[in-house]
Amino acid sequence: MSHALTSRKRHLNAANGVDLGVLYTTVSAGMLLARRYLTGRGIDQEFADRYGSAFGRTAAKIYRTSNGAEPRRAWSNVNGKWRRVNGYLPTETDVLDKAFDTYPRTADYVAPELAAEPTPVEIYNKAAGHYPAQFAGITGETLRAAERAGGTEAVERFVNVHLDDLHTWKQDTEDYDRAMVGDVDKAARREVQGRPWDDPRVQRWMQAERGMEDYLNARDTFNAAVVDWLYDLTGTVEVSDVPRPPAPTIPEGCRVPGCVGTWHYDDMCTAPLGEVQFEGEDVSLPAELVADETGRHIVAFAYNLSSLNIRREMRDRVSAAEFTAQLRQLADAVDGAAAFLPA
Ligand SMILES: [Zn+2]
Repeated sequence: MSHALTSRKRHLNAANGVDLGVLYTTVSAGMLLARRYLTGRGIDQEFADRYGSAFGRTAAKIYRTSNGAEPRRAWSNVNGKWRRVNGYLPTETDVLDKAFDTYPRTADYVAPELAAEPTPVEIYNKAAGHYPAQFAGITGETLRAAERAGGTEAVERFVNVHLDDLHTWKQDTEDYDRAMVGDVDKAARREVQGRPWDDPRVQRWMQAERGMEDYLNARDTFNAAVVDWLYDLTGTVEVSDVPRPPAPTIPEGCRVPGCVGTWHYDDMCTAPLGEVQFEGEDVSLPAELVADETGRHIVAFAYNLSSLNIRREMRDRVSAAEFTAQLRQLADAVDGAAAFLPA
């Protein structure tokens, strides 16, 4: 049983890691963050990294003064760590514009060199050109290798960083699609017309044109790798059982007699009632008396990671009696049939 509990907990931990990245990225989607705003205004990345937080503080001050409230909070993945930063809605761009003119360093900023305006193809390739290679070949084994080297936390970091990159990549393809209209699109096609396939200009243009397709493929490959790792189909990774802190106590006391307290983390009281065992490791039919926010109930469920759908919940005495009658009938029938077995 302990191995099964370990994998169950490990799956829960891993699911937390994945969901967090998705959640943070979703929560912050569409928000303007200080650093990204600066680079969007043509400030180079090094400057944005260096003065981004000072610029952000100026923006926050302007927001507070004009709205009498704190700016919204968003999540930003900085070097693989999720950080809380201020976020602004597209309708609040004027706050950032005003900060840009107010904060001395951005007000006086002069671009390092005034090169010709980059084309959407160049912008896309600079921002996203490395992603296909980065995502190519990521499999469940990649994540298992990371886990062997640095534990489950290393996988969570890897997953978070890549989810953030996928999010950025999608935005890059959307930016490209938005920019490639009318004369801009015509000019890009003229630029590559009549050139051979292997001309770098043609390659860059094609890479940008199939950006969304590449992104979707990479996302599918990455999801498949995470699923393979989550369910560890090869079963090759041993994860040591990290002791949890003691379970919290329920303030008003346990709500069922014999509660073991294991699920107090989830505000749930459970008392095991015993189990029927089957062939195969960790395959059984346990029954529990449960009290949670939906009330008290008895539940019998198959304990086997591949058949979690075998479950019977009883919420009143009649349905509990129906189940026990079936068990008694089955017990009597097994007793009767036993007469035909050798002693
Ligand atoms: Zn309890």
